[in-house]
Amino acid sequence: MYLDNLGEVTGNLFERAQQIATAKFQSDTSGKNSDKVCVVAIQAGNMDNYHAIFSGAPGYTELTNIVSNGGNKKAAQERITNTIKEFLRSEEGGDFSDLQITDHGFDMHGRGAMNCAEPKIFYLLKHQLNLSLKTWVIVPFNKNETGIVIYNAPCKNCRRWVYKHFNFLSGLIAKQQKGADAFEE
Ligand SMILES: [Zn+2]
Repeated sequence: MYLDNLGEVTGNLFERAQQIATAKFQSDTSGKNSDKVCVVAIQAGNMDNYHAIFSGAPGYTELTNIVSNGGNKKAAQERITNTIKEFLRSEEGGDFSDLQITDHGFDMHGRGAMNCAEPKIFYLLKHQLNLSLKTWVIVPFNKNETGIVIYNAPCKNCRRWVYKHFNFLSGLIAKQQKGADAFEE
């Protein structure tokens, strides 16, 4: 990956991620939710290697099914919830209070920091698959009013930790797609 073609690299990553998110939204049977986010993680340097997960309850169900793998769902849920909460409470995880994690964080969407898709992909990559986050580029999407899958920058909860943990191209894509707005606190 050469610095002089970063624009091309991020452009290709974005297009690939948008295809993945579009396909995931199209095959989604988890019900209507107007502000549902799909976060795509692509391995830097290998666009065939990716994971994608929804925000909110649908994403929690997806993640629980992966982690429990046919076994005890309640145990999997406890492990996921405890691990995500512990991370978000830590300084490197954004230094959230318990109420900000579960009820109302820093973003105008008014949900707790653990409800987003980003903490779920964090858990999936780091704690389930034991992968190094620095090699994974994350690109979040949602659907606009006309059903088009568009970029959805990490919210004010997620941007407290997302850009510094995942591959730096995640932040570069945010900057290209949303400009300074994607970093405003
Ligand atoms: Zn968020």
